[in-house]
Amino acid sequence: MKTIKYIAGAVIAILLIITAIVLFNTINSKPAYVEVESAEDISIDHAAASNRFAKALTFKTIANKDPLKFPGSEYDGFHRFLVDSFPLVHSRLKKEVVGGYSLLYTWQGSDNTKKPILFMAHQDVVPIAPGTLDKWIHPPFGGKVSDGYIWGRGAIDNKSGVMGILEAVENLLVDGFAPKQTIYLSFGHDEEIGGNDGAKKTVELLQKRGVELEYVLDEGGIITDKMFPGISDPVAIIGIAEKGYISLELVVEGKGGHSSMPPKETTVGILSKAITKLENDPFKPRIDGAAGLMFEKLAPYMPFYERMGLSNLWLFECFALNRITQSQSANAMVRTTTAPTMLEGSNKENVLAAKAKAVVNFRVLPGDTTDTVIKRVTKVVNDKRVIVSPGTLQINPSPVSDITTPFYKVLEKSIKQHTQGSVITAPYLVVGATDSRHFIPLTSNIYKFIGITLTSDDLKGFHGTNERLYVDEYIRAVKIYYQIIKNMNG
Ligand SMILES: [Zn+2]
Repeated sequence: MKTIKYIAGAVIAILLIITAIVLFNTINSKPAYVEVESAEDISIDHAAASNRFAKALTFKTIANKDPLKFPGSEYDGFHRFLVDSFPLVHSRLKKEVVGGYSLLYTWQGSDNTKKPILFMAHQDVVPIAPGTLDKWIHPPFGGKVSDGYIWGRGAIDNKSGVMGILEAVENLLVDGFAPKQTIYLSFGHDEEIGGNDGAKKTVELLQKRGVELEYVLDEGGIITDKMFPGISDPVAIIGIAEKGYISLELVVEGKGGHSSMPPKETTVGILSKAITKLENDPFKPRIDGAAGLMFEKLAPYMPFYERMGLSNLWLFECFALNRITQSQSANAMVRTTTAPTMLEGSNKENVLAAKAKAVVNFRVLPGDTTDTVIKRVTKVVNDKRVIVSPGTLQINPSPVSDITTPFYKVLEKSIKQHTQGSVITAPYLVVGATDSRHFIPLTSNIYKFIGITLTSDDLKGFHGTNERLYVDEYIRAVKIYYQIIKNMNG
């Protein structure tokens, strides 16, 4: 009897201790409101800047792997337009053309003991999806400013970056600013098709010159509006890592023949089972790395239960993951995703497929690698008749950049200075691939952010129809680039 009492007492004591720890962590998870200095008074001619940006969208810089279809004259026209638009940039900075159409500008700093910073964006845009042209409110290459928006392909991805950076630098030059740290501006021309002639060759050129970079800032993060359930303030997400990429081809070969006398198992049936196995047994989710840092940073701003879960992952990780993986976008942040995308069988309804083929695309979470993906897929499929082979493009996840560097702090500060302090900043895992991955050999501090607010409606235009950007947001991006450069040299 005494022992039972003793055990019951111990259990209650343990439960009380756990409850106390959980409550302590939850209450301690408080928003960090930081006082920021007021913003620089940056005088930008809004109308002139937005008209220049709109004009930039009229050049059809759609990169193409086929050299015969590559629109070189569009890029040449765009480059001439840049020279006319930014006269100080083109008289004070050194400009080099790399890999045919990529641009590399060098803004020499006064202090050679410091490693340079590189700002980057890409000039190329994705094509318009077939059959969607008539759905555009304004023509995709019309460069129209209307209803407060700049409309056209590239408005978000990523001429906002190219033009925003150049506009900021031109204005800094007008204001008589000279950097201590050397600044590079790098604008690739083939990011959407892999960046092998642009960003990759730029990196090789810098490597040949023995250049090491202190920081890189690329596209990949934005200011989100109501993207995180339970958080009403806008959240600026700063990319500090990106997922890897691999596609696997699954092939089953058989005899084929007439469909009137099928075997018990067909190539299509065997292949379908393999795909079903992969969908039913997804990669294990986990909260760590860049996504872990994001949830840690956002937890204090969340409603009580979410906050309690995320600030006590030692106890509630399982529940937290259960909740997170319900949302498609949040799920992509916590696991290597599995997406069957292509299927091929017989080309006639009454012919058995002699060969059935599927392609499954995986986005690889930091911590996994393309090799571990291949191994796991082979194990889960567990059928020797299904031949698994990787596609040519294989990218491992990037390392995770440090969020305690002076540059990361400057990013946070510059964002707050130009958003009246109402914006929460958080590190973020970029689920797509950007050109900045080519720069990994030159620095371990790669960040991805542009200072534009995008609603979920705006995001539909990203690689989609009716791409557009609010004029005021473009101006904000310019000011934030300006402020980052100023703050780094302050
Ligand atoms: Zn892009």
